[in-house]
Amino acid sequence: MFLSKSKFLNDFAKKRGGHFAAGKIISGTDFESSIPILRELNHQGLSTTVDYLGEFVDSKEVANVRTDECIKTIKMIHQERLDSHMSVKMTSLGLDIDRQLVIDNMTRILDTAEKYGIMVTIDMEDSPRCQATIDLFKQFKEKYDCVSTVLQAYLYRTEQDLQALSAYKPFLRLVKGAYKEPAEVAYPEKKDVDDHYKKLIEQSFHYGLYTAVATHDDNIIEYTKELAATLNIPHDQFEFQMLYGMRSQTQLELVEQGYKMRIYVPYGHDWYGYFMRRLAERPANIAFAFKGFIKK
Ligand SMILES: Cc1cc2nc3c(=O)[nH]c(=O)nc-3n(C[C@H](O)[C@H](O)[C@H](O)COP(=O)(O)OP(=O)(O)OC[C@H]3O[C@@H](n4cnc5c(N)ncnc54)[C@H](O)[C@@H]3O)c2cc1C
Repeated sequence: MFLSKSKFLNDFAKKRGGHFAAGKIISGTDFESSIPILRELNHQGLSTTVDYLGEFVDSKEVANVRTDECIKTIKMIHQERLDSHMSVKMTSLGLDIDRQLVIDNMTRILDTAEKYGIMVTIDMEDSPRCQATIDLFKQFKEKYDCVSTVLQAYLYRTEQDLQALSAYKPFLRLVKGAYKEPAEVAYPEKKDVDDHYKKLIEQSFHYGLYTAVATHDDNIIEYTKELAATLNIPHDQFEFQMLYGMRSQTQLELVEQGYKMRIYVPYGHDWYGYFMRRLAERPANIAFAFKGFIKK
């Protein structure tokens, strides 16, 4: 988790990115090479959300170029008739540089997304950026229907955030949370995170929000199925989400059982931070990819 924020290792990894493109958790280094993968997922009944990898951008020029790439991607999702949303991180559009920069960049993205009817989800990053991300979401949601966001079960604050966001009727992705957070702000124990996650799913159903339960955890998935059945929540009011390359068989089984399933598909050269968080979460699952990277 600590290494996932190393700029030196990130730059080094970018140079080796081409070799890594074959990795099973990233679809390609550019959007064009990801299209066949997205098409195949759609063909299997899986919806997608694409993520142009990159975060914690510290230059205005890079943030603007990244915005252009997101706009191009949204246009291509439309042109290629893919069943896909797009996910973006506010730090990749300039959140750490200047608030107005991120507003201008995201406005350009949402103008395009609205024109083509593509949903854009604002990923949630680490806790120091949580309030700013929520504030930006609220501001954009006043103007655009096609914007959604994410809340993290490991943060103590999330029940209040969910309550506050419920008035905006968002398409809401719930996750456990992927960053290393101190005990002052986040539950240190997995059991408490899981319990809180279940509570949030129930709360989200209660508010009538379209709820995306983004997890690979069978325990949470089973809980969601049972809760939805008990509360008579129709299958078009919620969905499951998983990361590309993780539990592929389970993804298909959920579709066969009649649930909506969306796959988060990352692409781009800037794969290092994403990769390291996945490695920290479940080393065994992506050890094969890491081995391949070291060998080349
Ligand atoms: C679609 C999607 C979007 C996300 N967006 C964000 C975001 O915006 N912000 C953010 O902070 N985090 C995000 N995350 C990451 C998330 O917060 C977690 O870090 C990540 O999903 C790991 O937690 P988990 O719920 O999958 O279960 P874990 O707690 O990692 O695992 C629980 C159990 O699930 C099973 N399991 C997990 N993975 C596998 C596997 N690959 N194969 C077999 N069994 C497995 C195991 O039994 C494991 O013990 C996202 C995750 C997904 C799926």
